[in-house]
Amino acid sequence: MKVRIERGGISTNPEILRQAAKGGLLSAKLLPRRVHNSSLSTRLGTTELIANPSVRLVRARQASYNAYTPDAWGIDLVRTLITGGAGFIGSHLCERFLELGHEVICVDNLITGSLANLETFRNHERFSFIRHDISHPLEIDGPIDYILHFASPASPVDYLQYPIQTLKVGSLGTHNTLGLAKAKKARFLLASTSEVYGDPAVHPQTEDYWGHVNPVGYRGCYDEAKRFSEALVMAYHRTHGIDTRIVRIFNTYGPRMRLDDGRVLPNFMGQALRGEPLTVYGEGKQTRSFCYVSDLVAGIEKLLFVENYHEPVNLGNPDEVTILEFAQEILALAGSSSKIDYRPLPQDDPRQRKPDITRARQLLGWEPQVSRREGLQRTLAYFQAKIAQQSPSVANPEKK
Ligand code: NAD
Ligand code: UDP
Repeated sequence: MKVRIERGGISTNPEILRQAAKGGLLSAKLLPRRVHNSSLSTRLGTTELIANPSVRLVRARQASYNAYTPDAWGIDLVRTLITGGAGFIGSHLCERFLELGHEVICVDNLITGSLANLETFRNHERFSFIRHDISHPLEIDGPIDYILHFASPASPVDYLQYPIQTLKVGSLGTHNTLGLAKAKKARFLLASTSEVYGDPAVHPQTEDYWGHVNPVGYRGCYDEAKRFSEALVMAYHRTHGIDTRIVRIFNTYGPRMRLDDGRVLPNFMGQALRGEPLTVYGEGKQTRSFCYVSDLVAGIEKLLFVENYHEPVNLGNPDEVTILEFAQEILALAGSSSKIDYRPLPQDDPRQRKPDITRARQLLGWEPQVSRREGLQRTLAYFQAKIAQQSPSVANPEKK
């Protein structure tokens, strides 16, 4: 059942009320206004009572609403806070949770993200943006039901440029968001990464593999920040009973990646579209497995709403490809005659990466749906449009 509630809380729309009552959501009177102060409401387990996770039941105390029956029930919007919401993946999550009917609070300091990523929903009435560095504590008024902690530089080029900020957001930032989750009794989801496996000796990577990471190498700032984050999440879960989830994300791509973020896909697509050589590092024999962003978002949603599971879950597309093959696929798709320019392999560059997604399949019934060809086509169209905005003659050579 889908129940949509307008901003302002308790609905006066008779159809919504009818549906809610039919679904057993409401046992008595509806409150005339939003119950925003958690001290006025008794928070109840969302899923035991409500099939639809985008609303929560609130219960008014007689003392505060003495004009109503003591057991009056109302429905209120679920509030979800997403750190790193102005980034590539975070912005798609904001969009998805708005679609689900949540009130979405995006917290971002824009170090690698951009307000342009929020353009299509920036003025949505259930969306708000807070510019804040989450490595510093954050206070939010009112209840929060879910916290998704996605803030962190994620591209190797970005985290090499900001190693200290990366370590801080993975340690202090994770600590602050877990503290918020504890205070608000919110469910918490951490964006972890396949980088916790380092240059893996086990292939494909299963969640029980402990990894092969160089803590003092250039990638150590990111890998160890995420490993520390995972340890902190488990400590908060075990010590304070926080309802936590950990997703280990494998290489994900799609619209809203930055053309200049240095990751392989934007690099190759930008180069192919501009007719420049494609910079393949090493001999291009290293492998990656690329997941389209809508598949990842679907998996994150399923993991967030699954009950009682706190161990890490890999999400990624197991369709593995060498970087050289990947370059050739992009050249063919773009119809580009760019050459390959071989460059030195960066330090500690993982030689192989492919997720074992058995756990996600069994636990969530999740499976990627978008083939690499289809995902690459959609992403290429996005970058084509971006480049056309920046320099029309490059993206449309015939118009020169
Ligand atoms: P991104 O750089 O596009 O997004 C990260 C966002 O976090 C940016 O908007 C940035 O401004 C924000 N941010 C960084 N530090 C912050 C801070 N201290 N306070 C507030 N905001 C801050 O990267 P992405 O690819 O969207 O990655 C998002 C998350 O997913 C990251 O945590 C990353 O580690 C994880 N992840 C991504 C991939 C991938 O392939 N894209 C793979 C594994 C893990
Ligand atoms: N890579 C490449 N050329 C580039 C950028 C990256 O050959 O212009 C390689 C890189 O060495 C790595 C793979 O592509 O082996 C994926 O790199 P990316 O930076 O996208 O992310 P990673 O998976 O290493 O975190």
